Amino acid sequence: MTSTDTLPETFGRDLVTTARAALEGAAPALGDLDRRAGDGDFGDNIRTAMKNLGRELDAGEPADFRGWVTAMSRAWLGVGGTSGPLFGMFFRDLAKATGEDAEAVPTVTQLADALAAGQATIQKYGEAEVGDKTMVDALAPAVTALREALEKEDDAPAALSPEEALRDAESAAVAAAQETAQVTARRGRASYVGDAAQGVIDPGAAAMALVIGALRAAAGGGEVAADWIG
Ligand code: ADP
Ligand code: MG
Repeated sequence: MTSTDTLPETFGRDLVTTARAALEGAAPALGDLDRRAGDGDFGDNIRTAMKNLGRELDAGEPADFRGWVTAMSRAWLGVGGTSGPLFGMFFRDLAKATGEDAEAVPTVTQLADALAAGQATIQKYGEAEVGDKTMVDALAPAVTALREALEKEDDAPAALSPEEALRDAESAAVAAAQETAQVTARRGRASYVGDAAQGVIDPGAAAMALVIGALRAAAGGGEVAADWIG
């Protein structure tokens, strides 16, 4: 680990508030994708999760990264559908990124490991492989891109800032989410409509790409673009 592996002290809060804004803003478009390729409830599931998050935060502002991400996890675990439990368990794994060091901000290396753990959990419970047109399609390449960025960093210390490494992950996730439009779903409700989902981006993959974008924004500021969804 190098000094450039360090994320800002406010990383947890900025991640959760940025992801919340991005998901709420994109909820109508994501709901519309789920109407075209699934059962249409994803927009409502996002709104319910973010309402739950508001309640969690009203109960008291979290003190650290783990607290912020745990609030996001609990918010999703209180939602039905498939995405609720899967995002809930994903954020629970992310919240554990710092291991024993409960009050710390994770390093980018710890973040990469936690994202990989979250991916493994989603795949364990959802049984989706890459290419099945689910949120896994956006998460898997993001994890790979982040790991590759960290390897570059090992070869040439200070080559990449955390923001740049996470931007690689975001770019990979957004590109892969867009590519799900070319795939007929094999998992989830979108699989029931078969070829009707052809040409439609998977909403869960798009939502996951927004979350990866929020990680990048929390590392270095800026907005999370959602204009590619639609
Ligand atoms: P449901 O499919 O139960 O209506 P949502 O509409 O809340 O659930 O969420 C839909 C999203 O959940 C899909 O776009 C897809 O990305 C994701 N998803 C569905 N099934 C799975 C699965 N088995 N593994 C991973 N992700 C899945
Ligand atoms: Mg649905």
